[in-house]
Amino acid sequence: MQCDDVILYLAQSPDEESNDYLPLPVRHHLSTCLTCQAERAHYLRLHRELRALRDVVIRPDDRLLTDVLDTVRPPATVTPIRSSRRKAYVGGIAAAATAGAAGALVLVSKLSQKGHRLAG
Ligand SMILES: [Zn+2]
Repeated sequence: MQCDDVILYLAQSPDEESNDYLPLPVRHHLSTCLTCQAERAHYLRLHRELRALRDVVIRPDDRLLTDVLDTVRPPATVTPIRSSRRKAYVGGIAAAATAGAAGALVLVSKLSQKGHRLAG
């Protein structure tokens, strides 16, 4: 068993001082390897410090959430994409209405020319 394999077990370890939860090959390696023993001691100290933090209550400043949100996102603004889309829609409707009116004028003009020819 290699140190890299043992370290994976140590990282998953419960916060116990005993090695009983570890598989036998891991325990054997741990008993003979100073590097892994130091890593195990590091994890145990980390667990102790995290356990000590369980009872610590920290009351954040009332503006903390607002400050964090202001930092991670830009302030809310009207995006130019919506504005340009609205302009595009209005422009498209105006163009369609103009084209329709021009088509109607051409149609009325041709009908009136035919009417003159029929009448005349
Ligand atoms: Zn080792």
